[in-house]
Amino acid sequence: MQDSSPKLALVTGASRGIGKAIARALGEAGFIVAGTATTSDGAEGISAWLAERRIEGAGFRVDVGSNESVAELMENLQSSLGAPAVLVNNAGITRDNLLLRMKEEEWSEVINTNLNSIFRMTRACLKPMTRARWGRIINISSVVGSSGNPGQSNYCASKAGVEGFTRSLAREIGSRGITVNAVAPGFIETDMTGSLPEVQARELLQKIPLQRLGRAEEVAAVVRFLALDGGAYITGETVHVNGGMYLA
Ligand code: NAP
Repeated sequence: MQDSSPKLALVTGASRGIGKAIARALGEAGFIVAGTATTSDGAEGISAWLAERRIEGAGFRVDVGSNESVAELMENLQSSLGAPAVLVNNAGITRDNLLLRMKEEEWSEVINTNLNSIFRMTRACLKPMTRARWGRIINISSVVGSSGNPGQSNYCASKAGVEGFTRSLAREIGSRGITVNAVAPGFIETDMTGSLPEVQARELLQKIPLQRLGRAEEVAAVVRFLALDGGAYITGETVHVNGGMYLA
């Protein structure tokens, strides 16, 4: 980082999977890291894990689906590590079902956790970034936000929404020195994809030119690039990290 004072990076959903790899990559790049989990045990686990790697920072509990919980997180952050200069909106869930069978809760839960959360978290972090005239907002989308996927109309709608939000906010706050980008992973080896039936996993590999699932570290490397000075002139973009499975 060119700026000598370390900046704070807030990563939601840092207890496992892609978020954990992002927390590590940003920590190793010199950021102080605030990583979130949905439980206090998870938050403590993040604190311990960061300490083991000698990364400055801590774990915090938040439910990104709740205004109250996000407000509480921001207060806790403010009184401990300060205001984030980098926000990585990574927390996300799936509740897959064919539309005809999809319950309203399955739709709402996914939209609330994956999309409304981005509005909530970003709005909560924006003022200090605007004051500092520097900020990086990085939203984790998904390849299926562009390609679509049967059984995932709720999830695909949420991720397409994330990308529209990204483009719009990039235009809105570019003049304040804040970039807003999305990173759209393909199929990455995490708990989220661990439950894929074997037949489906085999069919999936046939659609990926690089013939393997991606690694969380390969997504984290792109987030790190966007957060550092190399990514300073990129805004409003969705960067795909999918082994070639979707080429627009
Ligand atoms: P994961 O392994 O299932 O982990 C999900 C993370 O989100 C966990 O840290 C979890 O916290 C947190 N989380 C879940 N609900 C939350 C809530 N309401 N409030 C706050 N945090 C919450 O997921 P992943 O595979 O790493 O996915 C991370 C992101 O990448 C998601 O946005 C996902 O849509 C996107 N993505 C993943 C893939 C893939 O192949 N894995 C592909 C494309 C996009 P707890 O540990 O406390 O539950």
